[in-house]
Amino acid sequence: MAETARPHLFAGLAPAAGDKVRACCTCGYRTSPRVSRVRARNALEADHGTSLPTCGLCGRTRWERDEIGRYTDVEVLTDDQVGDHMIVCRDAPSRCRDLAARRQVDLDRAVLGDATPPPTLRMIRNRDK
Ligand SMILES: [Zn+2]
Ligand SMILES: [Zn+2]
Repeated sequence: MAETARPHLFAGLAPAAGDKVRACCTCGYRTSPRVSRVRARNALEADHGTSLPTCGLCGRTRWERDEIGRYTDVEVLTDDQVGDHMIVCRDAPSRCRDLAARRQVDLDRAVLGDATPPPTLRMIRNRDK
């Protein structure tokens, strides 16, 4: 089975033996146990690499992070049919859908713009002149 590109985002921390923690990736990867959550997260970024999330609908790239460094309003959607993964704003807020709709209109306009023939001018004669 072909491996599709999965988003690699810091997903959280998992407890490990001896008061240690592992950092988890949204793809399922876990670091080896580390003595602190900061070290675990650094290890994830250094050893595994994490993605910068971009919303697949509205194109948003700036996100808040919570106290352990997770992106707070990012959601990874999985299309089970094709196995695709997409990062979107959590719960697809109306702002996100509005922007997505506007981008779609712009795309439609860009496509149609090339196909529409240039307008032709019709001369209307002024009979009185
Ligand atoms: Zn990963
Ligand atoms: Zn969005």
